[in-house]
This record gives sequence, C-alpha cells and structure tokens, in this order.
Amino acid sequence: MEGLKSLVRKKLEEGADAFLCLVEEEGSPLPALITDPGSPQLERLTLGDTRYPLGRLLVELLREYPERRFAVLVRGCDERALVELAKLEQVDLDRVELVGLACTEEEARACGCRQPYPGRVDLGERAEPAPSREVIEEAESLPDPERLRFWEEHFSRCIKCYGCRNVCPMCFCEDCALENPQLVEPGVIPPEFPSFHLVRALDMAGRCVDCGLCEEACPAGIPLRAIYRKMQEVMEERFGYRPGEDPDRRNPLSELGTEEEIKKIMGSDLEF
Ligand code: SF4
Ligand code: SF4
Ligand code: SF4
Repeated sequence: MEGLKSLVRKKLEEGADAFLCLVEEEGSPLPALITDPGSPQLERLTLGDTRYPLGRLLVELLREYPERRFAVLVRGCDERALVELAKLEQVDLDRVELVGLACTEEEARACGCRQPYPGRVDLGERAEPAPSREVIEEAESLPDPERLRFWEEHFSRCIKCYGCRNVCPMCFCEDCALENPQLVEPGVIPPEFPSFHLVRALDMAGRCVDCGLCEEACPAGIPLRAIYRKMQEVMEERFGYRPGEDPDRRNPLSELGTEEEIKKIMGSDLEF
C-alpha cells in the first residue's frame, strides 16, 4: 500500500482538498475521504476486493462542495463512468484528479472485462482484457420464443429492490423512469415483464460503461450485465460508439434526444 499512500499524500500536497478512496474499517473496505496528508487513515488504505461506485459518490461530493477539488482512485470502469458523466454535464473533470489503478488478471477474468485498466495507470500492471459473452451466447443460441422465456424466467425472480439502479454510476436522474406509473405499474412484484427491465436497458443504451456493479448488487442473481453488454454491442455496431472512451464524442442517442437539438433539426416551432 506504500505506492497508494504516497500518491494520496502527493495529491493532497499538490492542491486536492480531499482524496476519495477505500480504507479498512473493522475488517471491511469502505469509501473514505482523506483531507490531511498526515491522517491516520493512510495506514488503513486498501484496494479492497469489494467495489464501490466511487464515481457516483464523487458526483455527490462535487455538487455538495462546488469550490473544492478532489482526487479519486479509479479503475478502468470508474474512469469510463466519469468520462461519460462529464459529457452529460454531471461532473466537472477540471476539478478532479484521477489516480489510475489497473485491475489484476484475476479481477479482469472475474468481471469478463474487455478493458481492465484506465487510460493512465499509476498503480498495478495492465492485465490482458478478458471479454466474456457467455450469457449472451447462451441466449442467442435459443430460438425466439425460448429466448423470451429464458429472460422471462430470470426476470421472474426480480424483487424490484432498485439495487441495480441505485448502485449504477450512470443513473443520476431525479425523476426515474422506473418510478413512472405510466411505464411501470406500482406495487407489482415481480415487475411486469419486460417493461421494467426494458425501460432500464433503453436508458442505459450508449451510457452503460460495463462496470458490472448492477449484476453484483442484484440479490436475485439476474445476469443483468449481459443485457447491457448486448446493448453496448448494438451501439458499437450501429454507431461505432463505446461509452466512456472518447471524451469528445457524445452518445449518439443523446444527440437525437434533447429538445434543443431536435428543434434545430425539425424547426423551432415544434411543440413538446
Ligand atoms: S469491470 Fe472489473 S475488471 Fe473491468 S475495470 Fe471495472 S473492476 Fe476492473
Ligand atoms: S454495468 Fe450496470 S451498473 Fe455498470 S454502468 Fe452498466 S448498467 Fe450501470
Ligand atoms: S437489483 Fe435485481 S432484484 Fe433488484 S430491481 Fe434490479 S433486477 Fe430486480
């Protein structure tokens, strides 16, 4: 942990007001904000084997403390999330210093990850990507009605706990479509198939950065990542777009989606 310790100190001494990372608390890694280079928390720094949506916490911190600068420890998927969130104007990356952590080969395999490292690696070694399509292939090998049953069976276990949404670094809307009674009937468990999961999958198109936190959080063991991965494959095939990669290219679906942009194309007298 010496490498991480000196990076935390360095960033704080260089002007970051706080460093967002993980520290060991009573045997468990928990997110912590370190503000003092002499803090005893530095002795309890950990990379942990539990992942947290640090990007999501950072969004809250940047909103809460608009004058402050932060440094944050990022894995590949955290960095992708922050890049995508910056395009959606949810984070100001000029106020953030990223400290890159490469995942181990074991972590990359466990996640089935196709990019297990951030753009700049400060800690660890770049592991080989280990992309996995196991569930997608299983579903795609089935003819249409059976494929529908495959997903219906998985989704019949959903207890509508919203864990997948709550942990997702890319979910930030104040009015969530999943709580809109016109789209998802309230009080029904499991939620109506396929609307609940379809609404979420469509919301994630061009946004999901394949971190897998939703699948990890799901108490029903639903292979959620496969759905979002498939959406990602479609986005790549159709639009050549990979969320979180190019900071200068916006999600093509958002180009079609804003009122302003549609008015530019369709004429300013269009009623919404
Ligand atoms: S998805 Fe897993 S392996 Fe890939 S960058 Fe994130 S934590 Fe690392
Ligand atoms: S993998 Fe799941 S949690 Fe991660 S960005 Fe995609 S939808 Fe959100
Ligand atoms: S985390 Fe799993 S059980 Fe909970 S709402 Fe999402 S899919 Fe359903």
